Parts: sequence; structure tokens; C-alpha cells
Amino acid sequence: MVDLLGLCSICGKPGAMFTCHLCGKLVCNICFDREHGVCSSCKKGIR
Ligand SMILES: [Zn+2]
Ligand SMILES: [Zn+2]
Repeated sequence: MVDLLGLCSICGKPGAMFTCHLCGKLVCNICFDREHGVCSSCKKGIR
């Protein structure tokens, strides 16, 4: 497969359009927390 679109670093699905401000990973809107500007993975470490 060719990555024409950004692949989400969390769920691995195409269509990633957000960059986590903490880890810099490209993630999709589902895995991105726009309120904190981080991915769902980094969000677990935020309080
Ligand atoms: Zn995702
Ligand atoms: Zn992150």
C-alpha cells in the first residue's frame, strides 16, 4: 500500500490531518483532542 494520505499514528487509518503538539505524531480527528491539541495517547498523560 502507498501512503497517499497521512496515516493516523494511533489507529493506523488514512486521513490523519492533525499533528500532536507533544509527540508530533500525525493523527486523525478521532484520535486527536482539539481541546488540548494532543493525540489521545498523550492525552492520557495530561491532567
Ligand atoms: Zn486515528
Ligand atoms: Zn501525542
